[in-house]
Amino acid sequence: MNNCNFDLFVIGAGSGGVRAGRMAAATGARVAVAECGPLGGTCVNLGCVPKKLLVYASQTADGFEDAAGFGFEKMTPEFSWNRLIENKDREIARLNGIYRRLLDDAGVTLIEGRARLVGPHVVEVAGRRYPCDRILIATGGRPSVPGIPGAEFGITSDEAFHLPEFPQRVVIVGGGYIAVEFAGIFNGLGAEVTQLYRGPMFLRGFDDDIRMTLAEAMKKRGVTIRFDTNAEEIERIDDGVIVTTTDGDRLAADQVLFATGRMPNTKGLGLGEVGVKLGGKGEILVDEFSATSAPQIHAIGDCTDRLNLTPVAIAEAMAYVATEFRGTPTSVDHNNVPTAVFSQPNLATVGLTESEARKTAAAVDVYRSSVRPLKNAITGGDERTLMKILVDRESDRILGMHM
Ligand code: FAD
Ligand code: NDP
Repeated sequence: MNNCNFDLFVIGAGSGGVRAGRMAAATGARVAVAECGPLGGTCVNLGCVPKKLLVYASQTADGFEDAAGFGFEKMTPEFSWNRLIENKDREIARLNGIYRRLLDDAGVTLIEGRARLVGPHVVEVAGRRYPCDRILIATGGRPSVPGIPGAEFGITSDEAFHLPEFPQRVVIVGGGYIAVEFAGIFNGLGAEVTQLYRGPMFLRGFDDDIRMTLAEAMKKRGVTIRFDTNAEEIERIDDGVIVTTTDGDRLAADQVLFATGRMPNTKGLGLGEVGVKLGGKGEILVDEFSATSAPQIHAIGDCTDRLNLTPVAIAEAMAYVATEFRGTPTSVDHNNVPTAVFSQPNLATVGLTESEARKTAAAVDVYRSSVRPLKNAITGGDERTLMKILVDRESDRILGMHM
């Protein structure tokens, strides 16, 4: 297309958008990236990075408990939530600066503001229109909260990173990544944590052994887990909230955290008008090359709701640039992507679960080992480490690994 301001206009400066913008610019393309929030997106600001820092904080608390076993005595630390949040925010501000520099150094034009498509080759930001050849949507997602009465009195992971005070009593609703990670964070830092999950066992889709082992370990560490129980209603009271559960209990808490999934950020982008088709959750439907149903418009990362992980968004960005700017059609294989859950203890998994493996292979050999970590020999801890490898007996191929 002639008379284009930009060869590529990326919407969203998160994990996927920044990588795609930089890599496309490196091929000589004229690239713009629009961002309506802080640079780096969810992972840097409200996801992986702050989450990991809070997980480290709660593991530090564990360290004090273990210290006596290693000869350190009279450890009576005082914990300051506000100091932790300040330090975390300082690190994030540093990363925001790094992301800005990365875009600058790559020669990408950063346009700050909310973008929307006003034509198949025109993006509007803050009242200005930018003609462009191609558009890449990388707008990520946001927390989704069930529509129960009083849901507005709860928080999501977004707010959990900026609570003005440390909550001493927390109810967590959900049983996915975020729910188990925050249960570990708040429990490790000393809160009384109750986790409600609507099904019989949390982390649906993970290997059953791993799910059960984690549930037992979390209970031993002090988290109250209530399976087959959901939140039905939330009431605000003077000193917090009351959560009424589906089995009729009333739980008093300082905060109730909804970790009940995420929704793609695709509303108000003008996608329907230019022929970009969406799925039932509002996710952008794409083919294996991240192409949408509209020519020259692609989408990557969480807004496509394939596998919502940072390295996957980055891989999709790299594949997009290879395909569209380097003439090397490249797709991302979403099978066998390793993933870690920063629960306490942590989980790591890749490939098929045991039940999936048994459906796939005629015979599966299970190598399962449960060991007491050496550290616990001295601290007196009784938590064990579980490792499991699933092997197709016929081909001797590894089908899945879980820790
Ligand atoms: P994002 O990083 O969300 O970026 C999208 C960007 O688009 C945002 O900056 C947004 O402001 C911007 N935007 C949206 N709409 C517009 C618009 N109209 N105009 C301009 N800009 C717009 N993944 C892992 O791999 N490991 C982890 O440990 C991990 N931990 C997580 C913990 C939490 C609490 C959460 C919520 C997520 C976590 N994730 C983790 C998932 C990971 O953060 C996402 O998969 C990843 O950030 C997706 O990248 P993205 O580029 O698709 O979107
Ligand atoms: P998940 O999809 O992982 O889990 C959502 C949980 O909420 C599930 O347990 C689900 O139950 C439950 N749920 C959904 N709707 C309701 C409802 N109406 N009432 C009660 N419970 C409900 O989402 P998360 O929000 O935890 O995380 C979003 C994504 O972000 C993850 O899937 C992952 O891709 C990414 N992420 C990755 C991390 C990492 O890599 N370590 C860390 C954090 C997030 P059910 O299973 O029954 O449907």
